[in-house]
Amino acid sequence: MTTLRLSKSIIDIKEVEAVTRILLEDGYLGMGAEVGLFETDIATYLGISPENVVCVNSGTAALHLAVEATLLPNDEVLVPSLTFLASFQAISAGKAIPVACDVDLDTLTIDLNDARKRITKKTKAIMPVYYASNTAHIDEIYSFAKQYNLRVIEDAAHAFGCSYKSKKIGSFGDVICFSFDGIKNITSGEGGAIISFDKTILDKVKDMRLLSIEKDSDKRYKGERSWDFDVKRQGYRYHMSNIFAAIGRSQLTKLPTLFAPKRKELADLYRSLLQNNHHIKLQQQDTHSDIIPHIFPIRVLNNQRGQLKTHLASHNVPTGIHYKPNHLLTYYQKDGLHLPITDIVYEELLTLPLHPGIQTTDVEYIAQTINQYFNL
Ligand SMILES: *Cc1c(COP(=O)(O)O)cnc(C)c1O
Repeated sequence: MTTLRLSKSIIDIKEVEAVTRILLEDGYLGMGAEVGLFETDIATYLGISPENVVCVNSGTAALHLAVEATLLPNDEVLVPSLTFLASFQAISAGKAIPVACDVDLDTLTIDLNDARKRITKKTKAIMPVYYASNTAHIDEIYSFAKQYNLRVIEDAAHAFGCSYKSKKIGSFGDVICFSFDGIKNITSGEGGAIISFDKTILDKVKDMRLLSIEKDSDKRYKGERSWDFDVKRQGYRYHMSNIFAAIGRSQLTKLPTLFAPKRKELADLYRSLLQNNHHIKLQQQDTHSDIIPHIFPIRVLNNQRGQLKTHLASHNVPTGIHYKPNHLLTYYQKDGLHLPITDIVYEELLTLPLHPGIQTTDVEYIAQTINQYFNL
């Protein structure tokens, strides 16, 4: 057996050729026509118009721009504490205030009943996180947002390619942010995208990724630049490079045929081999969702997580913990804030290896090692 990896970029000669084409033939490595083509490919994949897709250089940049273009300074954003630090950093970078919410014990996605208790006059948005690709309760999230007049900024970093009620994530909604970092469902090396159906937001984020130089994006796709321009707001150097777009375009062609079926097969196999192990709990999948799992976290009950993690490591199985809850970090902690479910699951979570380079025999070995640890 080869060394197991928790997660991995799956790259072959196709990406090498794509990058070589940019390096040797295109003559421009920055943001040019290739980025426009990646946006068009993403739009085609999602069944939306290319105007609705804005590529940037990371998922964090996508979230940051989405927040800053949508909200005003000191607006509050409801966000589950159980997420990658990037969700919180993007909100505070955008000058808004992250309000940590608890998660639902079964789905590990934002608990709307807990979120409701945290609404104030300053609450202006909710940022649901599709944890482990679980696109659960989206209708409920949008009716909640409508009821309280909130914008919805979806952290869909885990959910590229997933569907809810037969509609692809990113093909509907308010503002949707994807990540294409090295280990996500598809990678562009580093990268991300903002999808919106609100022209005001789109115009803002298209400019903001290029230092807020007005309408520079369109010119760059034609190999032109703005020499005489105006700037009316803060901007950032968050545009995507042609090199990254070329990697992303190649990866996108492999998602439906290679990556999605493989990730689903491996996660289904984990589920079938672990479902009868009463020492662990599997994340409950939303029945309306068709997901491409980005990570495979399990909950290890009865204080056994630490020892099981060590046991797996000694059997050459690397594991992870997604995530350290953000309300426990010095920068985001608040006196008197208790998120009971998040605090419990943080002690239980263990992420098992999942990526398209893993074999079904690897999953069998990992599941067997877990079951044997519990004498099953
Ligand atoms: C990966 C990730 C991000 C950030 O994306 P990057 O492309 O790594 O900046 C944000 N939120 C979640 C939940 C993620 O997993």
